[in-house]
Amino acid sequence: MNRDMEKEMRMQVFEKLAEYRYEQLVFCHDKATGLRAIIAIHDTTLGPALGGCRMYPYATEEEAMVDVLRLARGMTYKAAASGLNLGGGKSVIIADPRTDKSEALFRSFGRYIETLAGRYIVAEDVGTSTEDANFIRVETSHVVGVDVTRGGSGDPSPLTALGVRQGMRACAEAVFGTTSLEDRVVAVQGIGHVGYHLCRLLHEEGASLIVTDVDAAAVERAVREFGAKAVELDEILTIPCDIFAPCALGAVLNDATIPELRCSIVAGSANNVLAESHHGEALSERGILYAPDYVINAGGLINVADELEGYNERRAVNRVMRIEDTIRRVIAISRRDGVPTNIAADTLALERIAAISSMERLHTGHPYGQLRRRRETI
Ligand code: NAD
Repeated sequence: MNRDMEKEMRMQVFEKLAEYRYEQLVFCHDKATGLRAIIAIHDTTLGPALGGCRMYPYATEEEAMVDVLRLARGMTYKAAASGLNLGGGKSVIIADPRTDKSEALFRSFGRYIETLAGRYIVAEDVGTSTEDANFIRVETSHVVGVDVTRGGSGDPSPLTALGVRQGMRACAEAVFGTTSLEDRVVAVQGIGHVGYHLCRLLHEEGASLIVTDVDAAAVERAVREFGAKAVELDEILTIPCDIFAPCALGAVLNDATIPELRCSIVAGSANNVLAESHHGEALSERGILYAPDYVINAGGLINVADELEGYNERRAVNRVMRIEDTIRRVIAISRRDGVPTNIAADTLALERIAAISSMERLHTGHPYGQLRRRRETI
């Protein structure tokens, strides 16, 4: 590689970092263990950057870098909107989780995290587990999501579901004038870890459930335990209901599905529910209130972040309950600014960061246009 090519590559990375004001990008390589990892720290204004480590056999280094940068920035917004004193970060290990895991690999990665002296705190993500976090923990204390016997917070799904229920209450208040979910009809897509606990909580509140899942056993269980009505996979999007709760896949709200919806509220745990940012506007135009995914599904993050203070379940539950208020604030900003709720969520996050840092830099130009541009690629 000649000098010009080297310079161009460096420029490309720094241009990428400059575009959304990333603070730091760390490439980790260990020949002995085969470790190839990237840690991205987006913003530490509110506190150390916390975010999971994704293990995936990315086809190219570029793909891995784009993914880790995008995910790290998303964590900044999620932590800020959730009221956590944490910044946004994420990491990726370029490897196949089915074949490439070893104690040595995760301990090697743990040593890299330790070199960052707490600027980045790692957690589990797609492709990594509590067992992997335990190996990382041998080398660094800057890890959450470890085994419960080592101070870990355990399965986050029940608290994620609790947060979604709380968010639904705030939405119900805005749309129906009461936080009560009694007799509301809720259509839940995906009865997995979060979906099951959500159905349980809603059943306890006296809501009527409509469910679907590719897993027939999960559907049967919801029918048996909660008297849910089972429908076909596609039907869940078009069935008349008060609340549609996506708890399975991303991008379920798109050009094809939004016109078909027959609900008043969309509130579920799934990540990246909107195929694209402008679909928030499409929902708003249809008069459907959308609870932004990263705000309403933050219960798991709030729960795992509690480990940093010595995990206390009661405190974690209390913090997750506040998602109701956070969604209320998002709805208030949406009405104040005349913007869709997904944009209002970004505003909530950015306003908090700006207030803490007094950084006018986050608010250059026309706020709505800037926020829309920033959000589009999260
Ligand atoms: P999960 O894998 O346990 O459950 C997902 C369920 O969806 C499974 O039962 C699966 O069979 C079902 N499913 C898959 N394809 C489907 C389809 N086409 N139609 C209907 N059902 C389908 O996952 P989870 O942990 O319950 O998470 C659910 C969603 O919430 C994911 O998008 C996840 O990223 C998000 N989330 C989860 C947490 C958490 O604490 N687990 C936290 C934040 C966000």
